[in-house]
Amino acid sequence: MFKAFIVDKSEDGKVTQSIQKIGEDRLPSGDVTVAVEYSTVNYKDGLCINATGGLVRKFPHVPGIDFAGTIEASDDSRYQPGDKVVLTGWRVGEAWWGGYAQKARVKADWLVKLPEGFSSKQAMAIGTAGFTSMLAVMALEDHGLKIGDGPVLVTGAAGGVGSVATAVLANLGHEVAAVTGRPEQEGYLRELGATQIVARGDIDTPSGKPLERELWAGCVDAVGGAMLANLLTQMKYGASVAAVGLAGGAKLDGATVVPFLLRGVNLLGIDSVMQPFEKRERAWQRLVRDLQLDKLEAMVENATLSDLPALGKSILKGQVKGRVVVDVSA
Ligand code: NDP
Repeated sequence: MFKAFIVDKSEDGKVTQSIQKIGEDRLPSGDVTVAVEYSTVNYKDGLCINATGGLVRKFPHVPGIDFAGTIEASDDSRYQPGDKVVLTGWRVGEAWWGGYAQKARVKADWLVKLPEGFSSKQAMAIGTAGFTSMLAVMALEDHGLKIGDGPVLVTGAAGGVGSVATAVLANLGHEVAAVTGRPEQEGYLRELGATQIVARGDIDTPSGKPLERELWAGCVDAVGGAMLANLLTQMKYGASVAAVGLAGGAKLDGATVVPFLLRGVNLLGIDSVMQPFEKRERAWQRLVRDLQLDKLEAMVENATLSDLPALGKSILKGQVKGRVVVDVSA
């Protein structure tokens, strides 16, 4: 028997959350069974814990869109019992049972080996949010971003994606302009390496003009919505925006195509869920190289399964700072 955080929905539509002891026979089919050590709280987890947003396909459900742990049983020759592994994406925690349990059964294709240089806990301090930040930085580099090009904007900077993006970009040698709606997090963001703090209210409303002064050499955008529409007008000639998230909204109200046509601005879509194995490995290796562990440490809040209902609400309100690591054994 092992502990699992289960979200269920009654016939009258009421969503309940409970920690239950369940048997392995409750796990879904798959070719590897993993003894989960750590999971995390991402924005999508907030949606699944509260069962809003239509992400959960079937109840009862175990959320947790990422986890790190040890292979316990494997029908796949690539993995042996005792191997340390990490999982992000593939709709685990949404359409499949996820990481908020002491065991998970998944497809071997979805795993990567725990990168040498990280513990299971550090891998989950990075988690889906940090992994996606690295994909975003790699996309900006692939589209020409170089050290010395000028400030790189990071939106939603005090959140999970934003914190890791800030730390990685600063460590690479970029100037980082961190956008936050939480002025009290200025010290934290400067500690991660931000050289400039931009108040959310100064950038989240389109001015109405198709082009503004050229300010940013690149952008990792976790916010979307009107803020993305506005910052497109402020990108330097040929610069790129890596669109990662929609914490501020899904609609690009107020945007025009003018920045693309007159400034050659690129809007790059970043998806972490369906990335092929080779790209995943590359991103994890880049994180080993480019993310300083003391900066990662500064981002972490520790939690247990019983903290999840409250944390699920907080992350949807944009109140979580950095990364939450869930110790599923505690
Ligand atoms: P967090 O909640 O940790 O961070 C989001 C941050 O955005 C908040 O901390 C806050 O930062 C800012 N924010 C929140 N609400 C608003 C608002 N209404 N207007 C402007 N800014 C706001 O979430 P994550 O970092 O885990 O995820 C960020 C986004 O990225 C989410 O939309 C998530 O779904 C998406 N995502 C996408 C992935 C992909 O594969 N494309 C993978 C992972 C995440 P501050 O207080 O500093 O302003």
